[in-house]
Amino acid sequence: MSTYITGTLIWYAMICPREVWLMAHEIEPDEGDTRLEWGRFLSEISYPRSRRRQIALPGMKLDLIECHGPKAVVAEVKSSSRFVEAARIQVLFYLWRLREMGVEAEGELRFPEERRRLAVRLDAKSLRALREVMARIEALVVQPLPPPPQRTHYCRVCAYREFCWSDEPGDDYG
Ligand code: SF4
Repeated sequence: MSTYITGTLIWYAMICPREVWLMAHEIEPDEGDTRLEWGRFLSEISYPRSRRRQIALPGMKLDLIECHGPKAVVAEVKSSSRFVEAARIQVLFYLWRLREMGVEAEGELRFPEERRRLAVRLDAKSLRALREVMARIEALVVQPLPPPPQRTHYCRVCAYREFCWSDEPGDDYG
């Protein structure tokens, strides 16, 4: 696997191919974007009493890793379940990378604002789905130019929206 594939790229791959290309080529989104800040804040404050550990490993920034007895649980905290499939594949990527390092873990998606949790398991079917996404990313990033912007519902909240759509006067970003 190429080392440039990260959990963030996996998530983008499920949302917009242009985002994947821009991020892989280190064209950073607006770090001051209020939605990015909100996501970070939410992750910080949501589980203050849990046995939380936030861990950064190559290609991975795990929101939470908790030990439930002998079992490790990796949790990703999201502000909404709107892009749940993208978040699920992102957690699968973390579980797969940990497995490659010899750590078997279970995954969880947490939506504190919705008071909801979703278990994520790395089984044969989900591993196939993950591998397809990784292959898609590898094919995409070697392209010399980014795919053109395509309007999606996500454009409105995307940190790249100014970059993609600012030339269009009065544009509401989708
Ligand atoms: S603004 Fe829209 S087209 Fe541009 S990167 Fe974001 S989601 Fe993709």
